[in-house]
Amino acid sequence: MNPGEKILSKILSIDQMDEWVAGERAASRRIGFTCGSFDLLHAGHVQYLCAARELCDRLIVAVNSDKSVSRYKSPLRPIVPERERMYVVAGLAAVDAVTLMEEDRPLTLLLRWKPDLYIKGGDYTADALRSGDAVREYGGKIEVIRSGFETSTSKLIERVGALAAHGEPESAAAQNFRGLVLLDRDGTLIRNVPFLHDPAKVEVFPGVIDGLLKVQAAGLRLAIVTNQQGIGLGYYTVQDFIAVNQRLLRELGARGVRISKIYFCPHSLADQCSCRKPATGMITRAMRDFDVTPEQTFLVGDSDDDMRAGADAGCQAITVDAKGFEPAVEQILSLLPAVQ
Ligand SMILES: [Mg+2]
Repeated sequence: MNPGEKILSKILSIDQMDEWVAGERAASRRIGFTCGSFDLLHAGHVQYLCAARELCDRLIVAVNSDKSVSRYKSPLRPIVPERERMYVVAGLAAVDAVTLMEEDRPLTLLLRWKPDLYIKGGDYTADALRSGDAVREYGGKIEVIRSGFETSTSKLIERVGALAAHGEPESAAAQNFRGLVLLDRDGTLIRNVPFLHDPAKVEVFPGVIDGLLKVQAAGLRLAIVTNQQGIGLGYYTVQDFIAVNQRLLRELGARGVRISKIYFCPHSLADQCSCRKPATGMITRAMRDFDVTPEQTFLVGDSDDDMRAGADAGCQAITVDAKGFEPAVEQILSLLPAVQ
């Protein structure tokens, strides 16, 4: 068995786990059970799983499904999909078997397999107490292992967020930027795919990257303002939207185009929000964030709603039509000398 196969062989369905547990029990092995999302595996996780394994002969880890993590942590989580989270956990020598936990709490699985030990990492939560009664009732024991590390997935995410917010040190030219170009995404930068949520379908229009490079070189900064009512309507998630953007940013970034920020409106028309274009909410917020006047702000879009939003916010609204991106760039550059 190669190492990859060995790891995969530890990942079991609920039914396979029934059989596995029966086998281990028949061999009189002491079974430990723990669970969690293990979104970004860190030292605290590894330490607690190793300590957990010391307490038993075989350790089962139930990994929360993507849906359950979204439910009980945040709609923006998990960062890593369930298949990969299970694979990483199964890769640890301390872990003997891994399964997927669809429910938020482990009670059903605990009652199904009745492990000798229910092991919790970190603080003794109300959740552990609640399931704890059931465990004690069938004769199991609860063990809590406190982490010797200060780290947590949430702290890691916070750290990454802080790094991203600081951005790279900017050149003097970028600090003296002359204005802001707000770009619509769908139908302007990339081909319009209704309710786009598949990164593989991102298709940057010809001329966009060269055009953005010219605009950037002229001392303008770039941000995206995009209506994404598919989120509000439930056609795709914020995570799907971010995955699409990530693909777009990677393509632009590879050529040196830097998008400073992405503003999006997740609401549907029915929500009557103040951000969905043709409303001006996203545009005024961007102008505030970048500390630019409407005269210094260009809005580039492909729809009437874009043009109206731009005009209502007092910016220079520039349309991208069948002729492509290049004429819009020329128009911005021709207007630029007037911008102070
Ligand atoms: Mg559009």
